[in-house]
Amino acid sequence: MMLDIRDLHAAIPGREILKGLTLSIPAGQVHAIMGPNGAGKSTLSQVLAGRADYEITGEALMDGESLLPLTPEERASKGLFMSFQYPLELPGVPAMTFVRTALNSQKRARGEAELSPGEFLKKAREAAKRLAMSDDMLRRALNVGFSGGEKKRMEMLQMAMFEPRLAILDETDSGLDIDALRVVSESINALRSPQRAMLLITHYERLLEYVKPDQVHVLVDGRIVDSGGPDLAQKLEAEGYDRYQKAAA
Ligand code: ADP
Ligand code: MG
Repeated sequence: MMLDIRDLHAAIPGREILKGLTLSIPAGQVHAIMGPNGAGKSTLSQVLAGRADYEITGEALMDGESLLPLTPEERASKGLFMSFQYPLELPGVPAMTFVRTALNSQKRARGEAELSPGEFLKKAREAAKRLAMSDDMLRRALNVGFSGGEKKRMEMLQMAMFEPRLAILDETDSGLDIDALRVVSESINALRSPQRAMLLITHYERLLEYVKPDQVHVLVDGRIVDSGGPDLAQKLEAEGYDRYQKAAA
């Protein structure tokens, strides 16, 4: 399994947020997690990223190796890419400097050759062009003063440059107008491959009209309470999460 989450619990002092979450994604597949606000979707992405300070039990394996003891940088070097609901802003750091530094440190950790500044710039410009991003955005400080759509394009640019094995995208569709949504979906679809897996975490079904998932999972109150094919997303959009929330309460 590319990603194998087993009975994962995550708590902050006095409160458990993930309550025994189990989920597997094989290589080559795109899965979606949908769920109401406050269900624990972003907590799951934070725990998998190794970003936040939760008390964690259970397992999260990537290619059979536990992610949980690894630093965020080690996870990235293994090929894990995360896109967050609220992307990092770095005043004073040009976006391209950030992406080149991150990409080359991942490559170094894997024992691969780094890209020269020229090779990097060529690749970055090509990716930016596909994403309808201007060169000016590449020179600006990372995400500082970027609109919601520009931030998401910047994340898609990073995803295209890093060529991750496992990409987890948290609410990548939120706040996007239809043009930005199309650009984001196209970059996700362009990266679909038998060697790669993706997990799309979303509140709405809209993104899934553009990126057909192999499986949809419903996350309510810290657990996966239902799984199904792409039709499940439409059903949730029509019926909401009430049915599951009543059962969880
Ligand atoms: P979702 O992304 O599904 O909307 P979240 O994972 O962001 O849900 O949050 C789940 C619940 O856990 C929310 O009630 C949220 O307020 C709470 N929560 C998550 N992380 C923290 C934290 N670090 N401190 C306090 N509460 C948190
Ligand atoms: Mg969230």
